[in-house]
Amino acid sequence: MKEVRVRFAPSPTGFLHVGGARTAIFNWLFAKNQAGKFLIRIEDTDAERSKSKLTEQILRSMKWLGLEADEPIVYQALNIQRHREVTVELLSQGKAYYAFDTPEELEQKRKEAESKKIPFKYDLSSLKLDRKTVEKNIAERRPYTIRFKVPVGVTEFDDIVHGKTVFNNSEIDDFIILRSDGSPVYQIAVVVDDHDMNITHVIRGDDHLSNTPKQILLYNALGWETPRFAHLPMILDEQKKKLSKRRNTVSVEEYKIKGYLPEALFNFLTLLGYAPPPSPPTPLPKGEGSMSKTPPEKREILSRQELVEVFSFDRVNKSSAVFDMKKLNWINSEYIKTADENTIAKLINEQFEKNNLPAQDAKYLSGVIRLMKERVSTINDFIEFGKYFFTDPESYDEKGMTKHWNEEIKPVFIKYFESINKETTPFTSVQLEEHLRKFAESKNVKAGQLIHILRLALTGITISPGIFELMEVLGKDTVIKRLNRFIINIAN
Ligand code: GLU
Repeated sequence: MKEVRVRFAPSPTGFLHVGGARTAIFNWLFAKNQAGKFLIRIEDTDAERSKSKLTEQILRSMKWLGLEADEPIVYQALNIQRHREVTVELLSQGKAYYAFDTPEELEQKRKEAESKKIPFKYDLSSLKLDRKTVEKNIAERRPYTIRFKVPVGVTEFDDIVHGKTVFNNSEIDDFIILRSDGSPVYQIAVVVDDHDMNITHVIRGDDHLSNTPKQILLYNALGWETPRFAHLPMILDEQKKKLSKRRNTVSVEEYKIKGYLPEALFNFLTLLGYAPPPSPPTPLPKGEGSMSKTPPEKREILSRQELVEVFSFDRVNKSSAVFDMKKLNWINSEYIKTADENTIAKLINEQFEKNNLPAQDAKYLSGVIRLMKERVSTINDFIEFGKYFFTDPESYDEKGMTKHWNEEIKPVFIKYFESINKETTPFTSVQLEEHLRKFAESKNVKAGQLIHILRLALTGITISPGIFELMEVLGKDTVIKRLNRFIINIAN
């Protein structure tokens, strides 16, 4: 069997979009599942719009997602000479022709078609020129493009996702393959490069479906073997509209900045248009039938390795997928729960660094992570929801204060503060809990009454992880400092 070779071919005219990343992931998963090769080709033939900064950003985002090429990256602009040679070959075989129509003439014809409300189609005027005229025009250095002569008939292919797909060639214009400035057009560049890179499967978004018949016609004209095609469903936002820069976060880099883990984004993007097979029913102990009656479970959290093992196009949908932010947050939270503590600590500190704030001590962060990892969806949440781990509260939640702070609890709380200030036993959650409960009992108040105030005094808000664990992580100095400040500000 031939080795599977796929490619992801971004144009460096923008950052890596989540839709592009999903295409890259499906290519990568398929290649790995088939023990094949995943390649990257930067389609930078549009010199004006292609930016090396964007190429770097695309490759950085891909690396972050763990999508590295198995062979050196191909830069399409370096192949322009080869694209021209192939174009000349098509010309010499009479499968392409010189076209001398000026942009103004074409524009005029386009407008005429528009006013008659008929779709514009190239009128083949240059195809009708005799050889002499063509030679004369070239000798006179009249600018020309080269157009591909679309043969009569139909073009059909067996798309791996959509099945049999048929296009009538009459719907396809004699399209330009070489512009008047000598630059190759996408259709020819992509075919030549895919051929030269021995690509066996072209996996890309549905937006390329209408390019495929043109490319197949070129393969046929050149007598080259056509790769298989798989067109992936589009990704829509929750309003069922195409993902857009204006309404949605679409750049992979931005997800990194917002505190998503690459493994989680990878897992989430995989589910856009693909459904992993359910986990098999668990075998029952001997003598109780062979399988349990519980229905197979829908699986959504899968490691990269598991995805490589199960990925197949049989489970890729034809219809568009919805980018569900809630689901991404859930998946990210699941990955944070099981992530390595040092990795999370490093990522939290990167956020501090970015905001020009001092990095936190690793041991301290380890305590914060332990208390917060079940309560956050992103890395940034550690800092946003756990603000009180890093700064003293600036105010105290008003509703909470009205509810829990009163003349009865005030003297008891002050006494409690004095007593923990004096306490010499270790400042651990177990000791702190034991001490508070005993203290409350001796003063005839409920432990909860003190706990509510403690939480407000230490965090400024009414929601936090377990108060005793929180006190242990904050440490005695911070706890005493904050309680002291609370009492001075509020109680007096
Ligand atoms: N460069 C094209 C794009 O960014 C992709 C070409 C292809 O996959 O055939 O849309």
